[in-house]
Amino acid sequence: TIPRESPFAMPFEVIIVPCRSDNYAYLIHANGQTALVDAPEAGPIVNELAARGWSLDEIWITHHHGDHVEGVEELRERHGALVRGGAADRDRLPRLDVELDDGATFQFAGSDVHVLDVSGHTIGHIAFHIPDAKAAFTADSLMALGCGRVFEGTMDQMWASLSRLAALPDDTLIYSGHEYTLANARFAVTIEPDNPHLMSRIEDINRARSAGEPTVPASLALEKATNPFLRAGLSSVKSYLNMSGESDANVFAEIRRRKDSF
Ligand code: ZN
Ligand code: FE
Repeated sequence: TIPRESPFAMPFEVIIVPCRSDNYAYLIHANGQTALVDAPEAGPIVNELAARGWSLDEIWITHHHGDHVEGVEELRERHGALVRGGAADRDRLPRLDVELDDGATFQFAGSDVHVLDVSGHTIGHIAFHIPDAKAAFTADSLMALGCGRVFEGTMDQMWASLSRLAALPDDTLIYSGHEYTLANARFAVTIEPDNPHLMSRIEDINRARSAGEPTVPASLALEKATNPFLRAGLSSVKSYLNMSGESDANVFAEIRRRKDSF
C-alpha cells in the first residue's frame, strides 16, 4: 500500500472572512484548490478571493438560514463553484450539485472531508470535519463558548449533536459561524464562576476583541474545558445547578434555556 502523506506535508490555509454584522465565512485553501464554508453574503468573499488571486472551486453549506446562504447563487455564477449541502435539507437550501448524507466522506484537495449531522439549531444542519487540517466547521451547532439556539430540533437532539462533535480529536480547531463569544463568555461565568480555564480564556477573548480580532477558531480541548454547553455532564456543573440526579441531556437543556433568557 502507498503510505499516506503526513498531514504536515499538506498545508491547509483557512482564511476567516467576516461578513454581515457578526457572521464568519471560511475559505479553505490547499493544493491550489479553494472551498468556502457558508456564504453569508458575496461581497467580502469576492474581495478576499480577488486579493489572493484565488478562484472558488466549491461551496459547502451548513444549514438553510439566510445568514449562511444568501451569497451562494452569486458566488456560484461568478466562479462556477460546485455547491455541496445536506441531502436532508435539500428543499430549503440553494440548488445543490452534491447532496451529502450524515456520515458521508468526500475528497477535497486530496484529503477526506467528513460530514456530520449536527441537527438541533435546525433539522439537517451539518458540520464538516477535515482530519488532515485538524479542523471542523460547525457554524451554528458548537460555537466558541456557546452553541446555537435550538430552533427546530429538540434539546436531546442538540445534546447528541454536541456530543458527536465533542468526540472529535482534542486538537481539532472549531470554526463556528458567528462572533458571539463575548456574550457567550458573560453567560458562561454564571454556570461556572470558579472555572480557572474559563477565566483565563475570557482574558484572551477580551484581548482579542479589543484588538478587533476574531475569537475563532478554538481547539476542541479548550471548548471542553470552558464551554458550559459541553460541560453539562460534569458532576460539578450538575451540583451547582442543583440537578445532581438529572441526565446530561436535561442539564444541557436547562443551561440552554437559561441562555435563551439571559
Ligand atoms: Zn443559523
Ligand atoms: Fe447563523
